[in-house]
Amino acid sequence: MMNDTTKNELKEKFSDVHFNEPLKKHTSFRTGGDAEVFIKPTSIKEFAEIISYINIKNIPLLVIGSGTNLLVKDNGVKGVVLSTKDLKEKKIVKSEGVNTYILATAGIRTQTMCNFAIENSLKGMNFAVGIPGTIGGAVWMNAGTQMGSMEDVIHSVKFITDKGDLIEMKKEELKFFYRKLSLTHLNKTYENLIIADVSLKLKAGDSKSLKKESQELFKKRKENQPLSYPNGGSFFKNPSEKPAGMLIDLCGLKGLKVGGAMVSNKHANFIINSSDATTNDILDLASIIKEKVYERFQINLKEEVQIVGS
Ligand SMILES: Cc1cc2nc3c(=O)[nH]c(=O)nc-3n(C[C@H](O)[C@H](O)[C@H](O)COP(=O)(O)OP(=O)(O)OC[C@H]3O[C@@H](n4cnc5c(N)ncnc54)[C@H](O)[C@@H]3O)c2cc1C
Repeated sequence: MMNDTTKNELKEKFSDVHFNEPLKKHTSFRTGGDAEVFIKPTSIKEFAEIISYINIKNIPLLVIGSGTNLLVKDNGVKGVVLSTKDLKEKKIVKSEGVNTYILATAGIRTQTMCNFAIENSLKGMNFAVGIPGTIGGAVWMNAGTQMGSMEDVIHSVKFITDKGDLIEMKKEELKFFYRKLSLTHLNKTYENLIIADVSLKLKAGDSKSLKKESQELFKKRKENQPLSYPNGGSFFKNPSEKPAGMLIDLCGLKGLKVGGAMVSNKHANFIINSSDATTNDILDLASIIKEKVYERFQINLKEEVQIVGS
């Protein structure tokens, strides 16, 4: 627990500070407990100042975007949760031959960047059409689809260090894996880097055909995903053997419920919050799924959603 002096100091120093903020309001699952302190920085400068302050005070920190890949435990998150949602700038930086470089701050929606690319006749972002959440979250998760992933379009990423300094790294200095940006190969001082903005490298394309493709991709998503219920996207990573959804479906688990959590009938790798689920309901359902899939296929499913809190 943070003491009152620190809490008051946070309130005095920074612009948008809330105490005991329900994280249900900030995650697409709509479950989970409160953030002890919740702050929405209004500029990259303030974002960096908060991170530096928090590290000096040794306060636990969690940075979130739109919470579309987050499962927050029912007892909430101790320390400070920083939301990037107010950091939403985008601009074309330069064009060189067929390449155009776009800068996007962490909190801008990935879909906004897809639309921005189409409006400017730039191709490369359509793989991400329909992926909810922020571009910072997308970089962190190396979000993607069968058509590609963030690593295909990243030119460089600007990070905030735990001292509050900004450092830029080219894509070649970073390591991307399936749904993961890994920083463990970097110098120890860079262990806790936070994404401030990203430079995307896109190519000249045709706006009309990109728009048509994007509309078709949206339609497919609507057909295949249970978008009318709160959910966190694909719950498990696809193992190399077979897609997780197929394995879960083959075990006959579609429609299985624990409390308000349910395996979607539309897509078996989606757990939906069908009616006032708690995070515990979702976690209990996930363990049953893992058990059944292991029993039948001897495959260990691993969570793609990031589970945080206590
Ligand atoms: C309906 C639905 C469909 C989805 N479809 C896809 C899909 O097709 N492909 C796919 O890959 N994903 C998909 N997802 C998952 C999710 O949308 C993506 O992973 C998205 O990129 C997460 O962005 P976010 O802003 O919501 O991140 P959050 O959920 O807020 O955070 C995710 C992780 O990133 C970290 N993070 C966020 N911002 C920063 C930052 N600035 N610096 C450092 N760390 C940060 C968080 O700490 C957390 O660990 C889907 C989700 C839903 C609900």
